[in-house]
Amino acid sequence: MRSAAIALQKKRGRKTVIVLPVMYPRELLTAMDVHAVELWGPPGTPRGPEAGRIQSFVCAVARNAFAFLASGGGKDADAVLFPHTCDSIQGLATLAPDFGGWGKPAFRYQHPKGEDRPAARKFVRSELECLADGLSLLTGRPLDISRLRAAISLHAAIDRVRASLLSRRAFLDMTDAALYRLLRRGEYLWPGDHLEELERAAQELRGVPVQQGVPLMVTGYVPEPISVFDRLEAAGGYVAADDYAAVGRRIPLSLPREGDDPLERLAAMPFLLPPCPTRMADQRRRMEYLTSLYRRSGAAGLVVHVPKFCEPESFDVPAIFRAFAGIGAPVLHLETELETEMPAQAVTRIEAFMELIINKHSIH
Ligand code: SF4
Repeated sequence: MRSAAIALQKKRGRKTVIVLPVMYPRELLTAMDVHAVELWGPPGTPRGPEAGRIQSFVCAVARNAFAFLASGGGKDADAVLFPHTCDSIQGLATLAPDFGGWGKPAFRYQHPKGEDRPAARKFVRSELECLADGLSLLTGRPLDISRLRAAISLHAAIDRVRASLLSRRAFLDMTDAALYRLLRRGEYLWPGDHLEELERAAQELRGVPVQQGVPLMVTGYVPEPISVFDRLEAAGGYVAADDYAAVGRRIPLSLPREGDDPLERLAAMPFLLPPCPTRMADQRRRMEYLTSLYRRSGAAGLVVHVPKFCEPESFDVPAIFRAFAGIGAPVLHLETELETEMPAQAVTRIEAFMELIINKHSIH
């Protein structure tokens, strides 16, 4: 699917940049007519022997991405972008050009790590300008500020529809697996094309709730394997609230105030996103956010779904258990490794967890 999307954008005369997870200034790429294709692994076994150059206790996301790039998986793209999400991805930014046979441009993008301050905004702005300079060398065109303004509006429209589909999940007659497949198409479609299909889905939102299952909240990194939703549904649940880093955590909680300078607005964006352990270490704020989302959604249980060996996500898991024990919410912790199917042991744990929740509900 990603290859077909790249081929289509090539026909439209666009350059393609492969982007490693999680956060990057999508608006900037769109404004510069650069097609972003995200690389979350890909799932399954590593696509080449180069994964062996990375220690086995590094997450499958980084190992698979390295093997993919080194085996020529990104040959149709023009460059790769490494956001500074974690030590593993930062390491890839060096390993891929040095050992992985990646001979095309490799861009880096550093996140602000911490709270909103004038110095942090200044830092983000300089990172944006630096990336814009690199992209202009790739495309042969400088950043056009009016196009950046339009790109910010386009992505804000996408975020609005995504937020609506997720927050009004109970009113949407679609399986979780189908909804997440749709949302994740935004990882490789041209944003304007993705907005059209999101808007078509939003027209299907009903005036009354149509989901019959037990509402759940999920938090974690990336919904892989996608069959996790089939398993939750088969056991009687559906996802009523989302905090996946790849999905809900990338939707800003508010929009930056209107202003003349779109770069200033873009520099404000990282501070308007839901808390994420890849960008901040303030667990108290994150736990407040998660428990508040849980309560608002009416969820009856929380699924924490993280990749094995993911340091940022795993670091918060004990705090999540404590915070949710404090509000009497049942929690299921799943660790997966970008398998293409849910491991049997995880399926059994999902079934047992759902049985516990359903019994608890029927007793009350
Ligand atoms: S899964 Fe975690 S450790 Fe791995 S690349 Fe993503 S943030 Fe980094």
